[in-house]
Amino acid sequence: MRRALLNVDYTYDFVATDGKLTCGVPGQKLEDYIASLTEDFIKSGDYTVFAIDAHEEGDTFHPETKLFPPHNINGTSGKQLYGKLQNVFEENKDKSNVYYFDKTRYSAFAGTDLEIKLRERNIQELHLVGVCTDICILHTAIDAYNKGFAIVVHKEGVASFNQAGHEWALGHFTNTLGATVK
Ligand code: ZN
Repeated sequence: MRRALLNVDYTYDFVATDGKLTCGVPGQKLEDYIASLTEDFIKSGDYTVFAIDAHEEGDTFHPETKLFPPHNINGTSGKQLYGKLQNVFEENKDKSNVYYFDKTRYSAFAGTDLEIKLRERNIQELHLVGVCTDICILHTAIDAYNKGFAIVVHKEGVASFNQAGHEWALGHFTNTLGATVK
């Protein structure tokens, strides 16, 4: 089965200690795992996607404006990939199997061309890493399920600022979305 890696929202604002909407230490612990998994996918020629939250400051039309403090604002350092993942991205961003795009909703499929990119490459299996387990990873996984993709969630590659939500989502991936959690 052809596979792709989806890197979701592993950015400074979601991970760094002084990030605007940070998962903190649980997020920081993923750094080595995500960076090396991403390198493996790129090296093996598998499609490697960076689906990254993007907001405009004070966007009154965006539903998240009422729900969360401003984060991942376009043009700020908070939107940069966190730690080693930024280096992996910089070294490989021009490769034909690496694709970075902005997303504006929780799901990487919402309002983006991700599905078309996956279908034209005949990719059937999606590997998910990033944050937050119970928000953007969850919503992306639900869309992937509805669209008929097989899903693999990497336990050492996901975290949340809500530990109970994290645990719940891991169960939901397995029991309700039929995902492999490994
Ligand atoms: Zn957001």
